[in-house]
Amino acid sequence: MNQDILICLETGENGLHASSLELIGKALELAQPCGGSLYGVVMGGNAERLPEDLRGLPLQRVYIGQTCRTYDAQECAETVVECVRRIDPSVLLISGTCFGRSVAPRIAVACRTGLTADCTELERTPEGGLIQIRPAFGGDIMARIVTDHTRPQMATVRPGVMSSCVRQGDRMPELCALSRKTDGHIHLLDVQPLKLAAGIAAQKVLVAAGRGVKRKEDLVMLEHLAQRMGGALACSRALVEKGLLPHEKQIGLSGATVSPDLLLTCGISGSVQFQAGIRRAKTIIAINSDPEAKIFDLAHIPVCGDLYEIVPKLIERLEKDGESVEEVSL
Ligand SMILES: Cc1cc2nc3c(=O)[nH]c(=O)nc-3n(C[C@H](O)[C@H](O)[C@H](O)COP(=O)(O)OP(=O)(O)OC[C@H]3O[C@@H](n4cnc5c(N)ncnc54)[C@H](O)[C@@H]3O)c2cc1C
Repeated sequence: MNQDILICLETGENGLHASSLELIGKALELAQPCGGSLYGVVMGGNAERLPEDLRGLPLQRVYIGQTCRTYDAQECAETVVECVRRIDPSVLLISGTCFGRSVAPRIAVACRTGLTADCTELERTPEGGLIQIRPAFGGDIMARIVTDHTRPQMATVRPGVMSSCVRQGDRMPELCALSRKTDGHIHLLDVQPLKLAAGIAAQKVLVAAGRGVKRKEDLVMLEHLAQRMGGALACSRALVEKGLLPHEKQIGLSGATVSPDLLLTCGISGSVQFQAGIRRAKTIIAINSDPEAKIFDLAHIPVCGDLYEIVPKLIERLEKDGESVEEVSL
């Protein structure tokens, strides 16, 4: 049985999207026991720098559609469907980015197959089928979904949860141009890229505030601490719901998945939904006044106490003695 995997590669001004490298890393792992080949199809952006972006990746062949130079979801979907017709892959993987989410359902409908959105893990069945794993019922259970009867088995994958593929050597995948003329109902006139500040997912150091922070003014203290540590402020959903911080700052199941070297949580209980976003943090320091708080199960350095006493002392020590946060004994 064909065990090939097709991966939608998203490119932008800065080259291949990090989430595409994560898809390739996972696809390589999935292909190993079954022996299929990996294929790519390029969606979006900067095709000029593609050869450099693809160097050293373990892809057999990459399809480039002229229509994929723009971010027209319908045109890109049609290009991917054309690739599916040619390769007949067993698995089709797409990043759960805004663009991936708009393209994936169109492909699934055209291929008359199933689609699992926002997977946080992918595994193989003993027979080589794809197990698509994602949180369900508000994150209380991890659903394991299989596509028994149709192909390709399709999944979008949450950015930031899989390990990136490591480039090896100078090998270039075969490049194959696809020319498709589509007569879509939507005509794209122009693309205006937004200049966005680096999000919390890209930060090496994060200070995350939770409901233990009582007033908006108190966030100034945590913002100051974050800056002193060379990082950024983030939060749990509780603070977004209170209107104290925007959704872009939220960590967790319905927020961002983060992987900082250092995460300091202040007044966060550690719900399963929050934990879903911090599993790849290298060091977690948690300040919480409740010794039974669930965040302490995950924290490498648990600090039981009142954040309103601890944080000012921490800032004072960092400013006075120039120590790192891990060195300060609380
Ligand atoms: C479908 C779904 C998706 C969700 N997605 C997310 C998500 O993406 N991210 C997310 O965060 N939540 C998410 N939630 C909500 C989640 O269930 C929790 O409600 C939320 O994480 C709680 O935030 P918190 O820990 O800040 O607040 P709480 O659970 O209220 O915890 C506050 C903590 O602060 C401590 N505290 C209080 N005062 C102090 C003090 N002075 N000093 C030190 N500690 C103090 C308390 O002991 C307590 O542990 C989701 C829920 C659902 C149903």
